[in-house]
Amino acid sequence: LVSREIYAQDTVVQVGNTPVGSEQFAIMAGPCAIESEEQLLETARYVKNAGATVLRGGAFKPRTSPYSFQGLGVEGLKIMSQVGKEVGLDTITELMDVNDLDDVARYISAIQIGARNMQNYTLLKAVGETQKPVLLKRGLSATIEELLLAAEYIVASGNPNVMICERGIRTFETATRNTLDLNAVAFIKERSHLPVIVDPSHGTGVRTLVSPMAKAAVACGADGVIVECHRSPKESVSDAAQALSPQDFHTLMQQLAPFVAAS
Ligand code: PEP
Ligand code: MN
Repeated sequence: LVSREIYAQDTVVQVGNTPVGSEQFAIMAGPCAIESEEQLLETARYVKNAGATVLRGGAFKPRTSPYSFQGLGVEGLKIMSQVGKEVGLDTITELMDVNDLDDVARYISAIQIGARNMQNYTLLKAVGETQKPVLLKRGLSATIEELLLAAEYIVASGNPNVMICERGIRTFETATRNTLDLNAVAFIKERSHLPVIVDPSHGTGVRTLVSPMAKAAVACGADGVIVECHRSPKESVSDAAQALSPQDFHTLMQQLAPFVAAS
């Protein structure tokens, strides 16, 4: 169902008012984690001013250590819903547990399935039984075939509104957090009609590499990017090394503008 042999035309997934997979290059931005209402509101205002249309931010965080901040949970969803309305942004957040699906669907425009849950087939089927837009992130060591089959699970369960996300994979390289596989973007755009979003933040793990790889995402045919930013990156409770400051994000958007217009 996700193959171009079945549907030749590009699928456009509507995330609130943002058409992902259309002529418009989608910009999703926000903090790694929702930390407080003030933090999210401030971030939402500057990403909107700089040109983003979708606000990202985790309420349920998949942290490597059980002692790290796990997210604000349902309280975070409520904050995001409120901030999204106030600032005029569509919203996306990660769903980790089927038990939270109703709350995420009630408060948020689109559901993110994180890299660690790409092959959680129970979760994939559950979001497949809704009509909510789903951003499916590539697993840390998933092949493109496995990624496309994970997307197939969601579509086969009845939900055609799937966006694929390349967020870097584990390789032998240790200079960067992950290796952003842009081959995968061009490959998936050729084989599948689903929109593809690039995450240069987790893909590199390095603040200064986010902007070059976001530009590369446009060049290889991606339909948008999802970028982490923080009002004060060094104070970010998670993924601080890859968070863009408001100024960095503004610069990124300026740098992206000519590429996006030309695409
Ligand atoms: C995130 O987007 O904050 C996140 C945890 O991403 P990933 O699932 O790609 O690691
Ligand atoms: Mn993160």
